[in-house]
Amino acid sequence: MGSGQVTDWQGKHVTVAGLGVSGVPAAKVLHGLGARVTVVNDGDDARAREQAAELEALGVTVRLGDGDTLPEGAELIVTAPGWKPDKPLFAAAGAAGVPVWGDVELAWRLRKPDAAPWLAVTGTNGKTTTVQMLASILEAAGLRTAAVGNIGVSLLDAVLGEEEYDVLAVELSSYQLHWAPSLRAHSAAVLNLAPDHLDWHGSMEAYAADKGRIYEGNRVACVYNVADKATEDLVREADVEEGCRAIGFTLGTPGPSQLGVVEGILVDRAFVENRHKNAQELAEVSDVTPPAPHNIANALAAAALARAYGVPASAVRDGLRAFTPDAHRIAHVADVDGVAYVDDSKATNTHAAQASLAAYESIVWIAGGLAKGATFDELAAGAAKRLRGAVLIGRDRALIREALARHAPEVPVVDLDRTDTGAMLRAVQEARRLARPGDTVLLAPACASMDMFANYNKRGDAFAQAVRELGA
Ligand code: ADP
Repeated sequence: MGSGQVTDWQGKHVTVAGLGVSGVPAAKVLHGLGARVTVVNDGDDARAREQAAELEALGVTVRLGDGDTLPEGAELIVTAPGWKPDKPLFAAAGAAGVPVWGDVELAWRLRKPDAAPWLAVTGTNGKTTTVQMLASILEAAGLRTAAVGNIGVSLLDAVLGEEEYDVLAVELSSYQLHWAPSLRAHSAAVLNLAPDHLDWHGSMEAYAADKGRIYEGNRVACVYNVADKATEDLVREADVEEGCRAIGFTLGTPGPSQLGVVEGILVDRAFVENRHKNAQELAEVSDVTPPAPHNIANALAAAALARAYGVPASAVRDGLRAFTPDAHRIAHVADVDGVAYVDDSKATNTHAAQASLAAYESIVWIAGGLAKGATFDELAAGAAKRLRGAVLIGRDRALIREALARHAPEVPVVDLDRTDTGAMLRAVQEARRLARPGDTVLLAPACASMDMFANYNKRGDAFAQAVRELGA
């Protein structure tokens, strides 16, 4: 299928791997373009049958209960991003010389020739927040834009829909990048790199390599985190367009070709005339919500991408001021008896929880859930001095309890041996008992939520509800 736009889909045999969020729309679009589409899906449950019936009514072939046999005559596979690279279907495709694209690759190939350029963001944590900040800044500059990708609007809708855009703020997961070999962004940022999803990628090296693909072919700027050397290494390894610059962001004083912070001001020493002498003030730290250190880093990364696109400094400030984070990301729920209750249910891995814990001085920490293979020693050791106490919930809480016992033996720990719906109220009551005025009770679980809740939103909602019951 080459590496450029595909304009003639008539009669092409395309296999869509996986029904679901990306598969159903992909199948519809490809069918609409005249391709002969076969969808293969591992599951055969009621939901899958419903989706299959809808597609079959259009003339799409659907095979339920067998996601691993390559259909006869397949010329291309378009896969759901979550499908693991070691699935037999992909081995069969490799042997037959059939290319595999993910949802992002498909959108990239289907976009119109004069389509809006992409400013792309990946990283272990902070992607959604940064992309939303970026969209807010671009809007403040009067540009037609949207936050798209692994968030809100799908990329396929963004590139094929009626709405016209000047530029897109695109969030990309490591899975999506794995399956997007020909994507070429205007500019891109890798916010940070910490072990996550390693069971999917196979190793830290493979995970980093997939994240690093975001820099391939960048035209204007590769934005990296000065405090996270692995991100800079990825820039060095990338094959970019002539003249594309490496731009760092730092919470310290920026050097030339960096954005950073000087005395509470976000400053740009990259996109200014004579960057060896000059700096441009962009915004104040207090313009960023919440002003936690990791979130200032997100703001700097968003600002770097916007500046790479040519946005004026005033739009960076206005865009950051207009931005409010999504729910469950360091959301202040209430103050009760001089204690602040903060919901960071979205801190679903140790790297996120570490950032969250670093933002407060004296903390009663509510943590636990599904550990996804993580270890907690570094987190416990780093947080030890700030912990007034800890309340542990969920299936894998013993892992955190043991890490605290090793690195913070003096910190009182309440271990809640229950996973019923009332457990969060109990956790919050225990946290209240441990807290002193001036403390923060912080829900930053460092774990996934699915052992006790449908998702992290429900976990955060349960926390907020429990806090309201305290105050009542
Ligand atoms: P993502 O889309 O990558 O999951 P979010 O913006 O939704 O990221 O933030 C998820 C969680 O990660 C937040 O609740 C916060 O705990 C943490 N976080 C956000 N930004 C950063 C960062 N730059 N570094 C470390 N942790 C972060």
